Amino acid sequence: MSNAIPLPLYAIGLGSNRRHPRFGDPRAVLMAALAALESDDIEAVDASPIIATAPLGPSRRRYANAVALVASTLAPPEMLARLQAIEAAFGRRTGQRWGARTLDLDILLWSGGVWSDAVLNIPHPAMAQRDFVLGPLRAIVPDWRHPLTAHSVRQLAARLVRAKPVDRTATPH
Ligand code: AMP
Repeated sequence: MSNAIPLPLYAIGLGSNRRHPRFGDPRAVLMAALAALESDDIEAVDASPIIATAPLGPSRRRYANAVALVASTLAPPEMLARLQAIEAAFGRRTGQRWGARTLDLDILLWSGGVWSDAVLNIPHPAMAQRDFVLGPLRAIVPDWRHPLTAHSVRQLAARLVRAKPVDRTATPH
């Protein structure tokens, strides 16, 4: 096995803003989701700390967010299908709909680079605008370069922090 070609890597974003009746609070949901990701064909390589994030949009609930690095021979559409099956398995138990999410799983980055079809875009189109993604991502893969912009995750995170004061001064008063 020592000469084996390295498996493709995926960075998977995890988010939850709802309790699960069995697993508990959003943080516990993410820990259960990290365990659920591991399988015969998905190997856990690393995981970021779980962070608590203020809610986006109308929901008042706090989010728990994290990023997992996994190695897998699954092709991107197969990985997406697997993530959606895990989301459904967690979501069905609460019967909740969009807005308050028991579990949200996204493919952020893939070592194969770019994937683009009708239902799947890698890198995830919103990743560079989300500090709750870039913070955990930087904790595990700071040097991974976005294949479209060539910026490292560390650079993307720094750019996002710098962009905030500009947004405030742009507000007229
Ligand atoms: P969301 O409601 O944010 O969980 O988005 C889910 C939908 O986004 C799915 O139906 C996917 O087809 C689509 N999608 C596109 N790109 C990605 C990606 N990189 N990771 C996960 N879902 C994606």
